[in-house]
Amino acid sequence: MDAVKLACATCGQMNRVPVEKLGAGPKCGSCGEALVDGRVIDLDAKAHDKATKGDELPLLVDYWAPWCGPCRQMAPEFVKAAASLKGQARLGKLNTEDNPQIAQRTRIQGIPALVLYKRGREVARLAGARPARDIVAFVQAHLG
Ligand code: ZN
Repeated sequence: MDAVKLACATCGQMNRVPVEKLGAGPKCGSCGEALVDGRVIDLDAKAHDKATKGDELPLLVDYWAPWCGPCRQMAPEFVKAAASLKGQARLGKLNTEDNPQIAQRTRIQGIPALVLYKRGREVARLAGARPARDIVAFVQAHLG
């Protein structure tokens, strides 16, 4: 594998990124937004569906809601995990209050729920708020 496809969370464009460029801050060829910068991606419904189905780099999605205390507590840990996993996996969040149809389709029963996608398929999920080191370990256990 010498390049991976990644969906741009801003414009929805699918980009092919050479693997050796993953660490060099690749940007979307269409809108110029960063594709891999170690930050948590705020996913809307369209970006969620594009990225979960099309991304070739592992994608971990945090299904959360603003009213959920444990979700808010975990948010800074998720940010730290995203930075640690830069270039290995992308981390995104989906607001289930704004997107109940996606939460239902994904069979999210409690939040926060972390779902790991690889090449268009769900490969693992983790329920409940976790510290950054657990989030990183969970993703790394499913890399490769
Ligand atoms: Zn874009």
